[in-house]
Amino acid sequence: ATPLAELDPEIAAVLDGELARQRDTLEMIASENFVPRAVLEAQGSVLTNKYAEGYPGRRYYGGCEQVDIAENLAIARAKDLFGAEHANVQPHSGAQANAAVLHALINAGDKILGLELAHGGHLTHGMKINFSGKLYDVGSYGVDPQTYRIEMDEVRKKALEHRPDVIIAGWSAYPRQLDFAAFREVADEVGAKLWVDMAHFAGLVAAGLHPSPVPHADVVSSTVHKTIGGPRSGFILSKEEYAKKINSAVFPGQQGGPLMHVIAAKAVSFKVAGTDAFKDRQERTLRGASIIAERLSQPDVAAAGASVLTGGTDVHLVLVDLRNSNLDGQQAEDLLHDAGITVNRNAVPFDPRPPRVTSGLRIGTPALATRGFGDAEFAEVADIIATALKDGATTDVDALSARVATLTAKFPLYPGL
Ligand code: PLP
Repeated sequence: ATPLAELDPEIAAVLDGELARQRDTLEMIASENFVPRAVLEAQGSVLTNKYAEGYPGRRYYGGCEQVDIAENLAIARAKDLFGAEHANVQPHSGAQANAAVLHALINAGDKILGLELAHGGHLTHGMKINFSGKLYDVGSYGVDPQTYRIEMDEVRKKALEHRPDVIIAGWSAYPRQLDFAAFREVADEVGAKLWVDMAHFAGLVAAGLHPSPVPHADVVSSTVHKTIGGPRSGFILSKEEYAKKINSAVFPGQQGGPLMHVIAAKAVSFKVAGTDAFKDRQERTLRGASIIAERLSQPDVAAAGASVLTGGTDVHLVLVDLRNSNLDGQQAEDLLHDAGITVNRNAVPFDPRPPRVTSGLRIGTPALATRGFGDAEFAEVADIIATALKDGATTDVDALSARVATLTAKFPLYPGL
């Protein structure tokens, strides 16, 4: 019964320090969010004690009657939310969900085709030293060098050349929507299965503010912790015909005991995602990103050599191109960090700088929308970022920090925690 602060003051101090950091800064990493208190409660619960290998009603351990209820709720809510025939809610993470998808659909040595990592793809879509690059024969498509968009002619051309068994549609850093019907057509033309990784935009899909990949794809994977704003974890949706294969690829194919405390927290998140408040949050997320893209496209920012990739966004993030700026990605990330804004540097397509430095920034709005930000606050954040990108090394960091502090004070995070 010893409290954490007494048992392990060093770790207790990390928790306190991190809560203070989250409260006192503006979180704009596009893949992050703030979970509701109810999710913290479910995740920090006694369910963490339970072994439950197998699936509800078919476990390899006794005493699963309560966790079965939680997992069945999570499955039913995920299917309902996305209109899917089958859901597996056991993947510990997005990467593990993705490993299970490939494991279920194809064999080692088979061919996959995904978006190039350097153009916004994910490690699990075929990066050389990731399992996906080691186990499969990888082809990739990139964005168009003029429009910076994924053009379906290029996807089709690459598909005809590579003849993949699985085509992957999905991204970690791309500011536009994908045409899932067009991906389906290309997949059918070359006899490939279509897998959509909606990890980033799943919350927008759940709210009906982004086209759903579910009707078009054989399999859809996702994380729960990005736009959805739930616990750090993954899940997989599929057509019924893949249900058995997906389930056995997750367990026993990839994982042992599922994290039942996280699965309970996923169930809570899927419930939240069906509410009007969630839809309102996703609307503010999208408007916030548009407001930032608009501000960073103004002549004063352009004069400093910074621009917005594709000229805008229709999702929850903005990609800033710094190839013509005096700031590189690392310097811009550090400068905003000093002002109290957390973003991540990100390679832009055709980036001349190495991946550890980069010539870009990825700026996301989900966490601030969850915090309560609306148009006026996003306009203020956009102007703070614009000022830093404009002024570079001569930025008055104290002045920007003061503006950040006004915003964080207006929207207290986890009051009473
Ligand atoms: N898929 C995409 C498109 C992602 O952006 C990410 C996370 O960055 C993942 C999968 C992996 O998720 P996780 O970090 O939970 O393994």
